[in-house]
Amino acid sequence: MYTEIFERTSFAEGSEIIRSKKKEDVERALHRASSRLSLDFEDYLSLVSPNAFSYLEPMARLSKEIKKERFGNTIQLFMPLYLSNECRSSCLYCGFSYENKIPRKTLTEEEIRKEAEVLQKKGIRHLVILTGEDYSKTSLDYILRAVSILEEFFDSLSIEVYPLDTDDYQTAIESGVDGLIVYQETYDKKVYAENHYRGIKKNMFYRLEAPERGGKAGFRKIGIGALLGLSDPLGEMYKLGEHAKYLIKQYWKTSFQISLPRMRPAAGDFQKIVSVNDRDFVRFLLALRISFPDLGLVLSTRESPRLRDHLATLGITSMSVESKTEPGGYSNSGALKQFEIEDNRSVSDLAASLRRSGLDPVFKDFDRALLFSKETL
Ligand code: SF4
Repeated sequence: MYTEIFERTSFAEGSEIIRSKKKEDVERALHRASSRLSLDFEDYLSLVSPNAFSYLEPMARLSKEIKKERFGNTIQLFMPLYLSNECRSSCLYCGFSYENKIPRKTLTEEEIRKEAEVLQKKGIRHLVILTGEDYSKTSLDYILRAVSILEEFFDSLSIEVYPLDTDDYQTAIESGVDGLIVYQETYDKKVYAENHYRGIKKNMFYRLEAPERGGKAGFRKIGIGALLGLSDPLGEMYKLGEHAKYLIKQYWKTSFQISLPRMRPAAGDFQKIVSVNDRDFVRFLLALRISFPDLGLVLSTRESPRLRDHLATLGITSMSVESKTEPGGYSNSGALKQFEIEDNRSVSDLAASLRRSGLDPVFKDFDRALLFSKETL
């Protein structure tokens, strides 16, 4: 299990190891990457390190080349669909936290259909379904009923809901879900405990093992990530790289993706944001691209249009678009948002901007029929 590896190096030690990397280590990693040799974990840590700051240009060049070799010019576009903002967990940084006195809403089947119709008209074929953590209001049965409605409208459905057991993940796959997303939020045990003090989410290790249970269940793709802004970003990047390396090796049939959401303003009075500036953020993404060439890299609407346009050319494989972070947001329910977004461009505006940069936005990266025909071979 990854948890055994996780316990071998503490979060603080991981951060220190990254800080100890020298310019020669960064140059060695870049030399290996330029020669298309496989990078090891030490190379990855060197590229994440503060000393890689002076090498952003060669890193960007390499990143661009590697993305093109592995994924061509494509950028897959998807939209999130929030089914509910009911939550029994308390996460200090989140607008949906149990303590926050906000209007709560769980979409009815009719409302889910209405949202799906709006999204389908925008041309979207890949949807991520989200809920808070409330087993009673958004039970697995409720989620699967939503899936059976949404299947009529979309080619690919991923879930970003509370962690489940392996059997439940298998049930979700059999019901038509092909992707799983579980962001760890923070890999720092102390900060995790301080920020998650109530509900299912309090159990850090149950969440940490969720991508692995998803791999065992057989998801086609799995997304992991850390919420940058809760703790030392270098510690997060150490643990995230370690986690990705383990999962890619163990569950080689699954394709893995990483996202690095940065903290955004939300309801509540969370103040303790650890700032991650643009240059560090870009360096982290480039380090991931160069070190894990087949890894999907996801960029959310939390980032500005300018930065998204720039990063799209440097190694990103998938972007959310026109996101509404409140249940019923596409058909105007008036419920409260989970957080604010920065890039408000429409699907067609973002697609046009990507095309101007020579990229090829794709709305569909997968055909269910292919999955079934492969399985029956
Ligand atoms: S982050 Fe998720 S679990 Fe935590 S309060 Fe928000 S919706 Fe609930």
